[in-house]
Amino acid sequence: MRTPFVAGNWKMNPPSVAEAEALASALVAEIDGIDGVTCVVCPPFVALPAVAGALTGSAIGVGAQNAHPETKGAFTGEVPLGMLTGLCGYVIVGHSERRQLFGETDAFITAKVGAVLATGLTPILCVGETLDERDSHRAEAVVRRQVSAALAVVDAGQAGSVVIAYEPVWAIGTGRAATPDIAQEMCAFVRSEAAASLGSNAADAVPVLYGGSVNPGNVDSLAAQPDIDGALVGGASLVAPDFAAIVRAFSST
Ligand code: PEP
Repeated sequence: MRTPFVAGNWKMNPPSVAEAEALASALVAEIDGIDGVTCVVCPPFVALPAVAGALTGSAIGVGAQNAHPETKGAFTGEVPLGMLTGLCGYVIVGHSERRQLFGETDAFITAKVGAVLATGLTPILCVGETLDERDSHRAEAVVRRQVSAALAVVDAGQAGSVVIAYEPVWAIGTGRAATPDIAQEMCAFVRSEAAASLGSNAADAVPVLYGGSVNPGNVDSLAAQPDIDGALVGGASLVAPDFAAIVRAFSST
């Protein structure tokens, strides 16, 4: 049995550290008493210490939205994993906004997955196809390529320390979530591809999340799907009661 996993990707929100700290405190109050779900929030780098402080003593974990695979060097604007250890337990890797807006390649994302694991943190690997790729029947081929590239550096024994989020690009931030059937089919596909890389026993330990316009109104039908172990949530994670409602939906699955 996999523990349900819900992560909030705050992206470049809220606009100040003080507001990030206030959001974290509001979440502590909202999520108090919801059991059986691993719950993580991923604020911008500079807000990590304040958010981690506000979450101290709560059951909510902290993640970063990115990290550089090198330990140090001339990489202006980047953040090394050594500055994240002790501050957070998770790192989002390969989000579609990083792939599309910042040109991150499969090879770079694979290097990040390896570096995150080597640092003792858990990568939340994002995969998913664009609308054009779905419309031209390439969704599975794209996701297969992304999963197999990233898992090439993962040993079967590390499977319990990897989370994969299937996030169709056309559903992110659009208000148009994948149907429960599509989300289920693709999350099951992600697990079968993980099994091809890691073996089926190891792949069974990997939480596979759905992400893309999850909200309190659509989460129940997504959470009811057998191969959806949780959610990666963008916009709705910025509203404490909405995020709590999403976490609650997975606590009863
Ligand atoms: C995301 O950015 O990972 C995401 C799923 O965003 P949203 O929930 O806003 O679609």
